[in-house]
Amino acid sequence: MSQAASAAALRSGTASPSPFWPSPLKRLVAMLAALLLGALLALPGLTPTPARSEPNFSAPRAAERARQLLGEGPRPTSSNNNVSAVERMREWFRTRGLDAEIQEATVRLQGKDTTIRNVLARRAGSSPGKAVLLVAHHDTVPGSPGVGDNTMGVAIALEIAEFLRDGRWKGRDVILLMTDAEESGLRGADLFVNNHRWMSEVGTVINVDSRGNGGPALLYEVGPESANVLRAITPNMKRVVANSLFAEVAEHAPTASDFMVFRKAGIPGLNFALIQGLDHYHAPSDTWDNADLDGLQDLGDAVTLAVFSLALDPADRVPSTGDAVFVDLGGGRLAWWPERTGTVVSCGCLLAITAMGWLGAKRRVSSSMDVLSAACRAGACMLASVAACWLLLITVEWLGVFGPATVAEGASELDAYRLAYWPASGPIWQAAIMLAAILGASLLALGLLRGLDGWAATCGAWMPVAALTTGLALLLPGSSAPVLPILFFATLTMGVVLFGLEPSSRLGGLLLAAVPSLVAGFLLAPLEVLGWSAAGLSMPLLTAARVAVLAGLVIAIACPRQEPARA
Ligand SMILES: [Zn+2]
Repeated sequence: MSQAASAAALRSGTASPSPFWPSPLKRLVAMLAALLLGALLALPGLTPTPARSEPNFSAPRAAERARQLLGEGPRPTSSNNNVSAVERMREWFRTRGLDAEIQEATVRLQGKDTTIRNVLARRAGSSPGKAVLLVAHHDTVPGSPGVGDNTMGVAIALEIAEFLRDGRWKGRDVILLMTDAEESGLRGADLFVNNHRWMSEVGTVINVDSRGNGGPALLYEVGPESANVLRAITPNMKRVVANSLFAEVAEHAPTASDFMVFRKAGIPGLNFALIQGLDHYHAPSDTWDNADLDGLQDLGDAVTLAVFSLALDPADRVPSTGDAVFVDLGGGRLAWWPERTGTVVSCGCLLAITAMGWLGAKRRVSSSMDVLSAACRAGACMLASVAACWLLLITVEWLGVFGPATVAEGASELDAYRLAYWPASGPIWQAAIMLAAILGASLLALGLLRGLDGWAATCGAWMPVAALTTGLALLLPGSSAPVLPILFFATLTMGVVLFGLEPSSRLGGLLLAAVPSLVAGFLLAPLEVLGWSAAGLSMPLLTAARVAVLAGLVIAIACPRQEPARA
């Protein structure tokens, strides 16, 4: 039968859409191969671009300058190192022709009156409108040279000052703000926001502050009106790792950076960080010798591009399009869409899958009740996987596998933090528990969906995933970034198989397994790798949520099986 004839037969209800679909084993192999291929395509994007000296941003030059101006010792607020670095930075900014000053105030820190000092530098531009503000805190925690946190951020600001040095600057004004006392409760940023005359002239803010000292530049947080900010940087930004899932986590996580102060003040903007090398975070080993200059190159490239893009093509140039959901494409270009679009698309996918399930079932001997039944069974398997994962995590924690549940007396703040979010054996246990929960759910689904018509089972199994994605898009929009594209391409593939392909070919079944898996591998693999670097993703709630998504995908992609059509 030709494709057109079989499609016609399908439409008239005289043919089965897919009686010869590949066996679950073949589908599973197709799924795993596509997942792997997707991951292999995306993971090289996590390797930062090599440090280079010319042109534009140069990591070795920025590092050398920062070494000289800030010294190599710890610079806690009001320490001698801190005060002298502040003076040297102001003088250096002035030699670059920038309008530089120190903003000083005495505040109460840990029960003591302490003077905090922000360094500010401004380059006037010829373009009217609000300024672009680059923020990096210059203080360190006591005992740590703080190269990753956050001398690298300051090094980037100094390099940008060098670029602004000569000639007539055609863009908006650029303000560089090196805050103090970030480590003591974001007090320097507070001081600027509440007390500085330049604050009212700030249009967008870019913050740099790392938790770690290497790896790729991560754009992990955005402020309000993010769609316009991303629109401005996307054409120039060819290399960035970003995911609005991290923005969602950052918004609900207990840790904070200076960016939070500006976000709360309603300033649109971007927050960049390096998150690999967490072992050095707030540690005596956070030195230039241990720093990853490739990471600094990546971070410097991304931040420089963002600052100049926003100064030359300001976010407020066009009317607001609200907040954005965003994800990088294998560490290359940034893909983003307005939150509203995400909600519409995920709802549309849910409706389309329901309609295709009904349409497919209508032309077969099976009833549309099969679709509903498959949806309920697949949904139950997803819930079972989450419950199992949650119970296993609690049990393992209760057994003390993650180490002592309470922090030893006299332990540092960092130790407490690590214990809470980054237990030494945590990742391995969590990976094992996640896999067990997903495998269990898949086996359960294999049993529960057995005997259902293949097309009905496929549509039914995607429906809970579509419902979950729609829920995410509505309630936690940023977290839908890695899931919505998978759902979208799955829906598209289902449409192609139902309406365009030789319906009885094996190709349809294989495509339905491979296409969503390829997208999933491409988007989820880097996220898992980054998740292990950033402590945040080891939280039990997030682990359970990831299991729900992953189990749902595995069930939807691999489990539906074709029984001989009931004639
Ligand atoms: Zn910091």
